[in-house]
Amino acid sequence: MNITNDKVTEYLEALYQPLSKTIELLRADAEEQHIPIILRETEACILNIIRMKKPRRILEIGTAVGYSAICFATASPQTEIISLELSEEMVCIATENVKQHDLSNRIRIMAGDAAESLNELKGSIADVDSEGFDLVFIDAAKGHYREFWDGSIPLCRRDAVIISDNVLIKARTASDEYVTEKRQKTSVRRMREFIEYITKLDYADTAVLSVGDGVAVSVLNIRG
Ligand code: SAM
Repeated sequence: MNITNDKVTEYLEALYQPLSKTIELLRADAEEQHIPIILRETEACILNIIRMKKPRRILEIGTAVGYSAICFATASPQTEIISLELSEEMVCIATENVKQHDLSNRIRIMAGDAAESLNELKGSIADVDSEGFDLVFIDAAKGHYREFWDGSIPLCRRDAVIISDNVLIKARTASDEYVTEKRQKTSVRRMREFIEYITKLDYADTAVLSVGDGVAVSVLNIRG
């Protein structure tokens, strides 16, 4: 289900412009194989945040086939990306896609559970104010967003932006009316708790946008 009405979604999708032919093909391929990648509307929104923010380093949690990382690197030629992915199969496919887009020098994929990779990264950054991330994109297991957020904070520069995708979970986060299966309950409850948490933090300003499947944009002001 779309979180905005179908006519609006259709209209916005028709406005979408892919970054390149090969990126358009990569999207078509992922969609055909039912691999969840960022929605067109979400892509357009995040790419403009990236263009404004001009991040030196982006941390992505959830690589899948590398689609979003490839878009970010293409739209922002000065940016280095570290992307975390649990599935070995996805790591292999994404590595190949990154190579084909000639971006292996700027996109590094770390295999394994993001919680462990975040810990590993923490140990590798000596000075977070100079080597930390300017932008974090959280787009992996929805029930674990709080863990991903908390694990990312020590890696963020003081004015970093954290973008969390799919926070409205097809409108289920907003209303139980849309929670139709028992198995959806835990991730919806956790997502509600996550949103409550990030919107009340005193070191972050968060706007929850009804873009795509719901995007939370948080601007940090930490260690200030
Ligand atoms: N960001 C990608 C894009 O838009 O092209 C899509 C990512 S997809 C929605 C989510 C990915 O997160 C899946 O490939 C899944 O294997 C991965 N994932 C799930 N749990 C994870 C975890 N604990 N650590 C790392 N990756 C995880």
